[in-house]
Amino acid sequence: MGAMWNEQDQQLVRIEAHGKKLQDCSLNASEQVVDLVGQRCLNRWATNLFPLACQTCRAPLVESADISADELSGRDKVLLSLHHAECRVSSTTPEEGVDLWAATTSTAVTVVGDPGDELALIVINPSCEQLLVQKGAFGRWRNATLDMFIDLGFKASTGTFPGMTDTVEAQLDGNRMTVKVVADLPGHTVPVSRSWSLSVEEETRRKIARSSYVAVAMTTKTLPTLLSDLTPAFNDPEAVSIGVPLTR
Ligand SMILES: [Zn+2]
Repeated sequence: MGAMWNEQDQQLVRIEAHGKKLQDCSLNASEQVVDLVGQRCLNRWATNLFPLACQTCRAPLVESADISADELSGRDKVLLSLHHAECRVSSTTPEEGVDLWAATTSTAVTVVGDPGDELALIVINPSCEQLLVQKGAFGRWRNATLDMFIDLGFKASTGTFPGMTDTVEAQLDGNRMTVKVVADLPGHTVPVSRSWSLSVEEETRRKIARSSYVAVAMTTKTLPTLLSDLTPAFNDPEAVSIGVPLTR
């Protein structure tokens, strides 16, 4: 991962985001955006922005995407988001304000455990093209996108089965699994969806027929649909996870 000046336009910094499985898409950040959050923040966190859909027009992002940075609640939180350059050139919030679509979500489910004792693991990236970063000590920016889930009881993933919560529920209806936040979350301004729907293959459905709970991990680091193994999300301290009751 490295940053270089874009030769066509000296005002743009090109961030090459390698190791993302979407290497062909380059991300551009204007000087304005670099001034707001700093190059180090972009170098660290641009890999957690996945160029799927433009957050202005919703059409797919293909070869390149522009990073915009909007300050939320004072100067310590900034929402980074991806757009076509034609829709919103890399910028901070314009005077008239700006509307964003809710970010794309990416979800996947797998089953672990011995026959008769199987457990569904669900991994969700709730915010593919948007990332909330917060300025902390020494001017370092941390990823605050999953904070609302920590408030719901999610804990940093440790590789062991996460504790249970009743703030989130899962429901299996035929081959459709819905994971839903059922608690109130006042004061959260990040436009993250509060329910996620996944299709469950017949074999998976059969294996978890007797389960009364599922494990859910939230991550901004990967696209779950591209992962061949979902279990690392339950070991990754950047992800947060929890056990959730399963109803039918
Ligand atoms: Zn667009």
